Amino acid sequence: MVAAGAAAAIPAVPHQASAATLLSASTSHAAQTAPVPPGAKGPVIPASGYLVEEIADRTFWVTDGLYQSIFLTTSDGVVVVDAPPTIGHNILRAVSSVTTAPVTHAIYSHHHADHIGAMSLFDGARRYAQAEVVKLLRQTPDRNRPLPDVSFEERLTLHVGDDEIQLDYHGPNHAPGNIFVHLPAQRVLMLVDVIFPGWVPFAYLAESQNIPGYLDAPARALEYDFETFVGGHLTRLGTRDDIAMHQQYIADLKTQAANAISTFNVDQVYGEVDPTNPWAIFNAYLSGVADQAAQAVTPNWIDKLGGADVYTWSNAYAAVESLRIDYGNLGPFGIRP
Ligand SMILES: [Zn+2]
Repeated sequence: MVAAGAAAAIPAVPHQASAATLLSASTSHAAQTAPVPPGAKGPVIPASGYLVEEIADRTFWVTDGLYQSIFLTTSDGVVVVDAPPTIGHNILRAVSSVTTAPVTHAIYSHHHADHIGAMSLFDGARRYAQAEVVKLLRQTPDRNRPLPDVSFEERLTLHVGDDEIQLDYHGPNHAPGNIFVHLPAQRVLMLVDVIFPGWVPFAYLAESQNIPGYLDAPARALEYDFETFVGGHLTRLGTRDDIAMHQQYIADLKTQAANAISTFNVDQVYGEVDPTNPWAIFNAYLSGVADQAAQAVTPNWIDKLGGADVYTWSNAYAAVESLRIDYGNLGPFGIRP
């Protein structure tokens, strides 16, 4: 077994296209989207492809400009939260750059491969995840995401050396099993794939499987005592103000989605599509409602949050569909008179 953190064990040259390569390749299309607001920009990623910085007492973030993981150096080894494969071996390089201690504890924020798909690198570490994550990983076995050694339902407090790491599950949000990771002494909170500091959420409200849980999660986050927020993405870390701004965007989206459900002219749809094709009717209706909501929301955020022109339509679509089927605001598809 190779000790995690040993620099000699890490290949020197990455063999795959890095996230930085993807980013530079995409710059030729920059003109097709609105300028990225200054507040969405983060630190420059060094030529190595990753940035590692101490963000609180012995707490470091590692980022490639797209994904984020954190680690805490304790007197009893290194605790890592998440292992995005795009950062991959650079997480081990980052750890090795600040300590010779091995990674002894690995925490899974949730089961998605894009955030924990390099967990296999922490050979010998004890792995922790919420119980739903175990079920989901059993469903789709992946050697890069080993089953955790320890699982919990609602709460697990880890004591490593003199440090405390609080893992809380408040129910499904972006995904079942997605937890809040709190370092109380360091005043750091990590909650992945919910709030994207400086940016609107990823497509379809971060492709959340439980939209009401997703919508509630930022308020739960603000109940914690923290100064630094780690969202797992994108260009930078966050603060409490970033969560408040995210909540304002979501509130605007919900308001305009509800408004569009009540005011959208359904007759317009029936005039446009094959009346014998119910899928065409649904598609035209939901797309039309999402169009109307997105047109009202996007201008309010285009200068404030990155990607407002890119993902507000899909976020509006997800908000509309959730208002309909989760909250029962069915508009013209309600109880027939
Ligand atoms: Zn995810």
